[in-house]
Amino acid sequence: MLTEQAGGETLEQFRASLRTWLEAHVPDKLRGFSLRHGLTRARIEELRAWNRTLADAGWAAIAWPEEYGGRGASVLEQLVYAEEMHRAGAPGPVNPIGLSNIAPAIMQFGTEDQKARHLERMRRGADLWCQAFSEPEAGSDLASLRTSAHRVADAFVVNGQKVWTTLGPHADWCEVLVRTDPGADRPHRGISALLVDMHSPGIEVRPLRTLTGGDEFSEIFFSDVAVPTENLLGPENGGWRVAMTTLTYERAGVVTLTLRMRGRIDTLLAAFDGTGTTPAQAAVRRDAVVLCLTEQRCLDWLGRRIIATAAAGADPGVLASLAKLRWSLLEHRLERAVALLGPVALEGAWADDALHGRSASIAGGTTEIQKTLLADRYLGLPREIKA
Ligand SMILES: Cc1cc2nc3c(=O)[nH]c(=O)nc-3n(C[C@H](O)[C@H](O)[C@H](O)COP(=O)(O)OP(=O)(O)OC[C@H]3O[C@@H](n4cnc5c(N)ncnc54)[C@H](O)[C@@H]3O)c2cc1C
Repeated sequence: MLTEQAGGETLEQFRASLRTWLEAHVPDKLRGFSLRHGLTRARIEELRAWNRTLADAGWAAIAWPEEYGGRGASVLEQLVYAEEMHRAGAPGPVNPIGLSNIAPAIMQFGTEDQKARHLERMRRGADLWCQAFSEPEAGSDLASLRTSAHRVADAFVVNGQKVWTTLGPHADWCEVLVRTDPGADRPHRGISALLVDMHSPGIEVRPLRTLTGGDEFSEIFFSDVAVPTENLLGPENGGWRVAMTTLTYERAGVVTLTLRMRGRIDTLLAAFDGTGTTPAQAAVRRDAVVLCLTEQRCLDWLGRRIIATAAAGADPGVLASLAKLRWSLLEHRLERAVALLGPVALEGAWADDALHGRSASIAGGTTEIQKTLLADRYLGLPREIKA
């Protein structure tokens, strides 16, 4: 039984107060909605309003330190939060990339002005954020990115193209990686991170339609976009560390997705009758479902380790890669198990999840890249030989 004390409140009191609050406040029209199910402008406004309600009640960004408006929630509180949000069918904050990936980088590397300007607006969902790292010729090999920025007076002038930017068509702000020193001795040493206002002149966002019909994906073109130098995040030419921090939090963020996956697996268990047309087929079906269940429970524990590591102020680093890898493999495994349900697996949320699940092994760094990182930094195997 969980009896941890936090801020004078036991975990069960924390759970009870959140559950009561959610029962009273989750708007019916948003129950069960996930960003995976597609976004429209109208839906974004509904989600922003919901985000404000969460923020006003202190239920947005609970993992953030109190000085930035969070609750400094403990590991177990974060897990309970994810469980109760799922149980209530409550959508998470409207600004997941800003809240989970970019905010930690701003807290770590940002100036006091940047923190004051952005963190509270992120928490309230007033500004939506995207992160523009990938380019047509720079995905896994991110350090080879070519979007350039050179200083003119008190601005960086940005030119280039980004691709696969999630939430690009809806974002107000973006963390953009740019090359500021083309002559650096190593490619990653010439990169800087900029906080870019997406409404700046010279930015063109071209939506990319996904398999599920959504337009939350995009290309972004920068033509002589002037970004004030005060929007530099971290040191000039020191953007690689900022980017790695952002990516570590993105990978660690799969912990939340894993907890949501527990709900999907529970639904699968409820829908699955454990039978088959032959005893052998029934065994194969049961095996598929039980493997999903076991994997998910292991991921739960890994998630607890990652949250505890981050909460202790340490870098979850390679553990985040491990979670990202196992989560994406489970997405694919789950897709096969769900297919056993028959035609129902081709409809609604099951189908959306299955189509999105395909991208899990690519987004946030591919499976091959995570395996290389784990071989190198977790298992201590000899480093990859580079051409
Ligand atoms: C759903 C989704 C959301 C995304 N959101 C964003 C976003 O918000 N912002 C953003 O910047 N990017 C985003 N991306 C892009 C994502 O980060 C890249 O797609 C990913 O890093 C892979 O890069 P790439 O597509 O250029 O593939 P490539 O790097 O060209 O890789 C192609 C294949 O080669 C393999 N490969 C490449 N290098 C190696 C190597 N050294 N060793 C072994 N195998 C290798 C890869 O594993 C892959 O199978 C998103 C992608 C997806 C699918």
